[in-house]
Amino acid sequence: MKRTETRSIYVKDLQIGGQNKVVIQSMTNTKTKDIEATVAQIKALEGFGCELIRLAILDEEDAYAIKELVKESKVPLVADIHFNYKLALIAIESGIHKIRLNPGNIKNKDHIALVVKACKEKHIPIRIGINSGSLEKDILAKYGGIPCAEAMIESAWEHVNILTSLDFHEIALSFKSSDVRLTIDVYEKASKIFPYPLHLGVTEAGTLLSSSIKSSAALGILLHQGIGDTIRISISDDPVEEIKVAKQLLKAFGLYKNVADLVACPTCGRLQYDMLPIVNEIEAYLNNIQKDITVAVMGCPVNGPQEASRADLGVAGGYKEALLFKKGQFVRSIPQASIVEELKMEIEKYIIENKL
Ligand code: SF4
Repeated sequence: MKRTETRSIYVKDLQIGGQNKVVIQSMTNTKTKDIEATVAQIKALEGFGCELIRLAILDEEDAYAIKELVKESKVPLVADIHFNYKLALIAIESGIHKIRLNPGNIKNKDHIALVVKACKEKHIPIRIGINSGSLEKDILAKYGGIPCAEAMIESAWEHVNILTSLDFHEIALSFKSSDVRLTIDVYEKASKIFPYPLHLGVTEAGTLLSSSIKSSAALGILLHQGIGDTIRISISDDPVEEIKVAKQLLKAFGLYKNVADLVACPTCGRLQYDMLPIVNEIEAYLNNIQKDITVAVMGCPVNGPQEASRADLGVAGGYKEALLFKKGQFVRSIPQASIVEELKMEIEKYIIENKL
């Protein structure tokens, strides 16, 4: 899939934009100043394949905590700062790799210049985050008081112009809304206007179920058009869930490798065993396997192997025994009671045999 060309920026050694890769991002929900808890969450996110992690910086204690957090984190960290230039300066001094800040919200021009100068010296990019819920009053009034793509773009221009007038170009942009159609509209327009990398996301998307639907609907359409350089799936849950969904979404568009895929039938009247607990157990197991393998758990031996013929490995449950199949071909029978155990063993064997 050909991606929209954007300028590349570097966040520490991570390239964003100007390439075919889409970077997965998330945000911690611990108090940033609680170093132990934040490091634990950073490690968990790293473990699941998160490549860029944002931290909320609310006060100086949070900003100074960055010194310790950057030492512990393998992936680049982003400081999320609103209005307060001093926090941005402390974050930069503490070794942050990227800043999310809207320069137009800092009223004093000298203060903006100080932040930009510090970012330039340390090659720290700035993400301008436009949110449909917090557009400038004058811009909103111009567009009839209703957030729309044009108003969001105009707001972005104002912030971008402040940075470019200071000869700062290491910029990324995001246009967040909780409305799926507005999200699609604004990113489609932005990708035609701005040369900067775009961070995609549907904000306040809700729980695992509703966010997966809204995010996949909006981001799926955008990714399919080649739009987007980083993504975040915002979920009201453990941030690790965001990474699982992001990986599956990118994989569906051929934009992510090394993630296991689970195929499972919806079940029907032909089902002959208690399949759902097995599906859940195998899914949890596969979530920890960063390998390109497709595993199927199917309800019956009549249609199962054929329906899951694209799977590398699979089981189709039957009465007392399940069939184990590889690439759609029958291998052997497995007693019902040991399906999970034997399938896990076969997955490990498959990974070794095929050098995945
Ligand atoms: S695999 Fe068998 S049980 Fe599952 S949906 Fe197909 S026919 Fe029904």
